[in-house]
Amino acid sequence: MELKYVQTTCPYCGTGCSFNLVVKDGKVVGTQPYTRSPVNEGRVCPKGTYAHEFVNSPDRLTKPLIKKDGKFVEATWDEAYDLIAQKFKSYKPDEFAALASARVSNEENYLLMKFTRGVMKSRHIDHCARLCHASTVAGLAASFGSGAMTNSILDIAESKCVFIIGSNTFEQHPLIGRKAMQAKLNGGKLIVFDPRYTPTAKQADLYASFYSGTDVAILNCLMGEIIRNGWEDKEWVSTRAKGYEELKAVVLKDDYLPENVSKISGIPAEQLKTAAEWIGTAESCALLYSMGITQHTVGVDNVKSTANLQMLTGNIGRRGGGVNALRGQNNVQGACDMGALPVVFTGYQKVTDPATHKKFADAWGFPDGICEPKNGYEVTVMMDVLTDNPGELKCMYIMGENPMLSDPDLNHVREAIGNLEFLVVQDIFLTETAEMADVVLPAACYAERGGTQTSTERRVQMWRKAQDPPGEAKEDWQIISELAAKMGYAKQFPYQDIEEIFNEIAAVTPSYHGMNYERLNKPEGLHWPCPTTEHPGTPILHIGKCSHPDGMGVMHAIEWKPPAEVPDEEYPYLFTTGRCIWHWHTGSMTRRSETLDAEVPTGWIEISPDDAKALGVQNKEMVRVTSRRGSIEVPAKVTPDIKNGVMFMPFHFVECAANILTHNALDPIAKIPEFKACAVKVEKI
Ligand code: SF4
Repeated sequence: MELKYVQTTCPYCGTGCSFNLVVKDGKVVGTQPYTRSPVNEGRVCPKGTYAHEFVNSPDRLTKPLIKKDGKFVEATWDEAYDLIAQKFKSYKPDEFAALASARVSNEENYLLMKFTRGVMKSRHIDHCARLCHASTVAGLAASFGSGAMTNSILDIAESKCVFIIGSNTFEQHPLIGRKAMQAKLNGGKLIVFDPRYTPTAKQADLYASFYSGTDVAILNCLMGEIIRNGWEDKEWVSTRAKGYEELKAVVLKDDYLPENVSKISGIPAEQLKTAAEWIGTAESCALLYSMGITQHTVGVDNVKSTANLQMLTGNIGRRGGGVNALRGQNNVQGACDMGALPVVFTGYQKVTDPATHKKFADAWGFPDGICEPKNGYEVTVMMDVLTDNPGELKCMYIMGENPMLSDPDLNHVREAIGNLEFLVVQDIFLTETAEMADVVLPAACYAERGGTQTSTERRVQMWRKAQDPPGEAKEDWQIISELAAKMGYAKQFPYQDIEEIFNEIAAVTPSYHGMNYERLNKPEGLHWPCPTTEHPGTPILHIGKCSHPDGMGVMHAIEWKPPAEVPDEEYPYLFTTGRCIWHWHTGSMTRRSETLDAEVPTGWIEISPDDAKALGVQNKEMVRVTSRRGSIEVPAKVTPDIKNGVMFMPFHFVECAANILTHNALDPIAKIPEFKACAVKVEKI
């Protein structure tokens, strides 16, 4: 039988690597390099290499399931749609909430947003960007007028100095890590600040270990040193930025002198001075960050501080510079772009703006109108409302998300979801969240669909279908359209194919106006903003002017604040969470990949040798870890790669779920939880 090769985009991280899926007898059987992608040039990381292994897992959902007497029974699509339509119609608009997904296409996120605001007339739609980069969207929008990565992945390789803070790039975005290495091999400096001595840190010319939650103090210190030494870009600061004098007054305070920040952060003063010099004197400096910056109660402050540093040094709108926020899931940027957020329609057009609200109401043509022009609830707030104000939210529709493992304080999440009257989950596997549903709808996975995704660098690319979905599973856009039709809105969801949905998106979204499938159907795709069909796309933002109406960048004077929960006598260790190279988020795909699961079959907690000795714990022995919210048992990994007093766990593993321990204290603006810092105690079992 002849093999077929179908080029598509990786389903895991936001780098957006391409590869070929190898198809035999109509089934995906492997992956193969696709060398024409400018992003990864044929290379992939372990997750990409084995991205075919879960596709035909025997665990795939193949039929709709309806829960009867506490057990799922198989149903026809009509039975499932009839039940859902009847239940959905019984709720008032704002008793309904939806979670879209960073794992499905732009088109499908757009449709669920349209379904929520148009069919259900609800304000409440969000997705997992709330848990990873909501602070990026808010912080960078406040600084530059656009809440996205400013430069491109290829651009990183041209930098003369790469400063990575709060990102384990070599494990979590390996093909972006490769660009940082290319910059280093070209003579650039690599600086890594991270609480753990990660594989990324091991490549650095300068590595500094710090206590999680001290980022603003560190960044203020670097800026203070740069200004004291006259290394700031005076022209940029005087002609392109507002707020410099206020920023300067804060960062030059004695509190932010290297010797004082050293006491807060744990970074030796000399390392802070060296980093400031390298950043301040480099011809160009690319700042890369990920969730080490964003997942804090001061996440927006942290993001604004990275923007301050890059404006101060003139690294905005410059090749090899930029604030490069590395987005987590493959289409989390696209899900945000598509308005799967409670405050915006597509392209970050504000829900509360009367002209925008009218524009969407007119374009969609619902005879009975759309949701009110008011902001909705964020997913973290939805969970609080469900526990604290029972009866306000009653019904949820979750597409491709697994809050029962991904969200903070899982005991709280279980109570919240348990309080719903009716829950529909649409997914490819029976996830921990799907198990709690009243109806489960079987969806197609990435290998079984077309459509577009938008990677972390705002590059819009195509997915391509390599095989049919298993059993009766369907693509998400088909499910949403058919359900809308059952509810009386066939006219508003008339799509014959997914391309028609993209054309509708382009018509209502200025930053996507110039895109269409013909232009996107090439290896390099297009970076937004792409306002006209002649426009070449925009790999680097803010060249010459920022995206605020007056073209200026805004510097923010920010004081350091500690995390919401810090170690004390009862809970003496700082606890932080993250990921590993072999697994992906809640593990629903990678733990069903034989090769990846064999590499790392379960979780662990990293403990420093000194702390292990004090606790009487040997490597691989089981320990009990307890926070104010819950307790888990997990094997210890004794390693010098972590600071004394700090404990780290990956959050992929349900049998030792790190998020039972984490804290749902929220950033007041972005409502992102503080996954990166809480207090725990650890005991040998
Ligand atoms: Fe996939 Fe990210 Fe690995 Fe590229 S770097 S192969 S996008 S997981």
